[in-house]
Amino acid sequence: MIKAKKSLGQNFLKDEKVLQKILETGNIAATDHIVEIGPGTGVLTKELAKQAKEVTTIELDARLIPMLHLSVIDKYKNVTLLEQDALTFIPPSTPYKVVANIPYYITSPLLNHFLQAENPPQTITLLVQDEVAHKICTLTPKMTVLSLQVALFGTATYIEKVSKNAFRPRPKVDSAIIHIETNPNNREKSLQILKLAKRAFSQRRKKLSNTLPELLEKLISLNLDQKRPQHLTIEDWQKLL
Ligand code: SAM
Repeated sequence: MIKAKKSLGQNFLKDEKVLQKILETGNIAATDHIVEIGPGTGVLTKELAKQAKEVTTIELDARLIPMLHLSVIDKYKNVTLLEQDALTFIPPSTPYKVVANIPYYITSPLLNHFLQAENPPQTITLLVQDEVAHKICTLTPKMTVLSLQVALFGTATYIEKVSKNAFRPRPKVDSAIIHIETNPNNREKSLQILKLAKRAFSQRRKKLSNTLPELLEKLISLNLDQKRPQHLTIEDWQKLL
């Protein structure tokens, strides 16, 4: 048995019910190409291989590769295993869905990586930390850069809380399943909004009239000059740009 590395976010799923819920939420068709990040010992990968046409799975930990070959790759010919950092993975140019129990330390950059890709996934189904899941799915007035980023490129839904007892080794906090339906329209505009919003969020206690002074006239005309970034809706940002 391989010793789990905390630094790589290794909390392996051991609860069959949670596994089934992830698969059900992923809504996998027999024609789908699934991209999985962090197969670990391959529990989810095997089930994805049974339901989808093709699975691409990306694992950073070299120690797990031989085991994955024995338990998954040799048995399921529709699975491709890549040994690399998922953040350097170039997403496919054809339709695909992401389904994964991800290493939590890269939740935000990973969402960035896929949501802002030239060809984003059709859907993203993830197991993430419960607190982060709430943040991702929260809209105004408690918007964060993370929730804005997700809302600009898709619609996130909080599916279900998952107890820390569902993992080995047991993490300190609970997790949750989230599902994101992406919206491939307006990518360029969304990227511009994000750039502007990041400036405002870097000083989130300040009013927009202070953080975005070059837009003062527009802010006043939209009645947003006295507001803080977390209070703006997606529609407000769109009007502002
Ligand atoms: N999917 C498995 C499961 O449900 O039991 C393992 C999940 S575990 C939370 C996260 C996995 O991601 C680990 O196998 C870890 O080695 C891998 N990992 C960590 N950082 C990674 C990265 N940057 N790119 C790809 N895989 C990574």
